Amino acid sequence: MNQGTDQELLSFAAQTLERQGAAVEVKPDRVIALLTQELKKQLQLPEEAVLGDEQAPLIYGSPLLDRLIALATRDVPVVYAQIEVPYLKKAGFEQLIGQDIVFLDGRLRISNRAEARSTYMSLVCHYLAMSDERKEGLIEVGINEVNGAFIPGLADRWQDFQTLFFAPGEVPPHFPVRIESALSAAMLTARSAAEKELADFFKSMERRLRRDVKSTREYYEALRSEMQSSLAHPHLTEQQQAERKAKIADLPAEMERKIVDLEQKYKVQVTLTARAALRFLIDVVQVFIELSYRKYQRSLRLIWNPVTRALDPLACENCGCTITRVHPHVVGSAIKLLCYACFQTGK
Ligand SMILES: [Zn+2]
Repeated sequence: MNQGTDQELLSFAAQTLERQGAAVEVKPDRVIALLTQELKKQLQLPEEAVLGDEQAPLIYGSPLLDRLIALATRDVPVVYAQIEVPYLKKAGFEQLIGQDIVFLDGRLRISNRAEARSTYMSLVCHYLAMSDERKEGLIEVGINEVNGAFIPGLADRWQDFQTLFFAPGEVPPHFPVRIESALSAAMLTARSAAEKELADFFKSMERRLRRDVKSTREYYEALRSEMQSSLAHPHLTEQQQAERKAKIADLPAEMERKIVDLEQKYKVQVTLTARAALRFLIDVVQVFIELSYRKYQRSLRLIWNPVTRALDPLACENCGCTITRVHPHVVGSAIKLLCYACFQTGK
């Protein structure tokens, strides 16, 4: 299997392509698709395309995945609004650094602050988990459109504020025109949020699988010992004996096939569909920071968000994941802000 090929991403790619009219064949480590002219153009792939191999890797952050997400979400209704905030924090940001966002190393100094506007997206997704049973629900996640970081609490709290919706044609120019990377970040965040919601469901399917595998093993063990003892029967002909011995020898393979069937039965397939995107313009406070780490310096900007009343998390500058614990790391002569995993691997 290719490094990083993810079953969820393969099944997402297959579903998206099928819905858009492609003929799709799903292999364990890749998707083979016969694309329509339009899909060829949009995905920048040949007519007979292989997704998930080295030429077209299907991994987080890859342009191909972003294009697929854009395709999956192109019919999602988008509404635009401004959130009216009654007040913006004026001081006391020092205390929030180390509380909302922790820098694991380096020295920080706040150099300035300014009121500004930032754009956010709240994405409503439907999830459907199919296995021996099904479970579905809606999930709403909020992200900062600028860096794609997940903003906990935004999706729950924006409705507590006065919201001014913009009519089509009256949307102010603050929103980035290209929506793909924000949608991509929101979809990936929604996917992990849906998986959290489904944790009990996954556990229950695993429990049932373990239970059924156990009883299958017990059944075959009982069958084997019963057949073994029947060999001692005095009236058994030699041929009958040989037949029974062959059956006993086949039992382990038969049991393994049953177990594979059970694993298939309890496998969970999750489908996530974006239903609506709300894009918000929010007045925020920009907090300008000078960071010194070893002999290097850099400036960075944090955002105080009046809806969550907290500093927005950052995005790891290598993998893009959301971070509230920031690991400064020197690459060349520049400081990069990384997540723990990227810091550990020295990216
Ligand atoms: Zn990272």
